[in-house]
Amino acid sequence: MAHSAGWTAVAFLGGRPRRDRSGRSCKKSTRLAFRAFVRSRCLMPNGGPDCCGQCAFNRTIQKIRSPNRTDESDRQEFWNNSYCTLRFVKLTKPFWTYCANYSHDAPKILGAKATGWIFASGIYEGYVRIPWHGSTEPMVGVPTTCSVCGRKTESGIELTTSDDSSLGFCSNRHYVAWWRTQHNDPAICADHFADPEETSK
Ligand code: SF4
Ligand SMILES: [Zn+2]
Repeated sequence: MAHSAGWTAVAFLGGRPRRDRSGRSCKKSTRLAFRAFVRSRCLMPNGGPDCCGQCAFNRTIQKIRSPNRTDESDRQEFWNNSYCTLRFVKLTKPFWTYCANYSHDAPKILGAKATGWIFASGIYEGYVRIPWHGSTEPMVGVPTTCSVCGRKTESGIELTTSDDSSLGFCSNRHYVAWWRTQHNDPAICADHFADPEETSK
């Protein structure tokens, strides 16, 4: 997994929240410290080697491979042009977006069929991934009011719905709980994510 020097605690736990050594969910202070760390250390945040930012289906990868990390215009061009040629969606956060079709190998993309959901990196509770709503990306880390519990938050999730209105969620758990009302996929379970009743204490 690519990451900044010194950061060794990166863990994707298949949708489960990361726990500390005592088994407790990460506290808010840890989350804030992590975000500050990313902002201060990562020129090119990279949420794993299997992200769209390194996938052969990404149109930008097909054109320019990877951006020069120290060149702002190069990075912007990479971001602006990232687009999945398999699923036909704009990739607004290519280094934090994932799916099972990831391929680092151009020949493997011939004749491929989209499999499963696209995933975004969820609100930090340890690295977790939350499914897109079909081809609609959930916006993570935005101020919103939760449509499930009514909680207001500065760093929640928002989703634009088909009628151009939006739904807000306070947490990965409440987003996925809503998502399950729309998609019958028992492999994706809200209980795998941190309980906002616990994390907001
Ligand atoms: S959505 Fe999947 S197939 Fe498309 S660029 Fe990202 S990892 Fe590759
Ligand atoms: Zn909520």
